[in-house]
Amino acid sequence: MSGRPSLEQYKKNIEARDFKAYKCAKCGAVIAPPVGVCYSCGGTQMEWTGVSGKGKLVSYTVIHVAPEQFQDEAPYYIGIVELEEGTRITVRLTGLDPQRPAEVKIGMPMVLDYDTGKSGRTYLAFRPA
Ligand SMILES: [Zn+2]
Repeated sequence: MSGRPSLEQYKKNIEARDFKAYKCAKCGAVIAPPVGVCYSCGGTQMEWTGVSGKGKLVSYTVIHVAPEQFQDEAPYYIGIVELEEGTRITVRLTGLDPQRPAEVKIGMPMVLDYDTGKSGRTYLAFRPA
């Protein structure tokens, strides 16, 4: 993919179920969602990169009272997943029952997924591997 990375393109990629992260051209750090500056070296040259889609669960919460535009979709999980590439992203969690949070284990292996909510919007998500 050509063109400068942007948050708009990042969202379009997710909508198209084609998740891509940023890669720092200077040090190779993988970053998502897009920011203008590398966390690792302060470099500002970024390019798109595919990811393995593998990661592990770092933290999660069940959203019962959602912002108004997401209220029809509650309850749902929001989690932080650390990608194999090292970056941490906040995502929806699929394949887990929000009524049974005891089943969710910190550190469990996760794989890339997408979740289309009742709003019709597509969210970046991960599910248990
Ligand atoms: Zn860097």
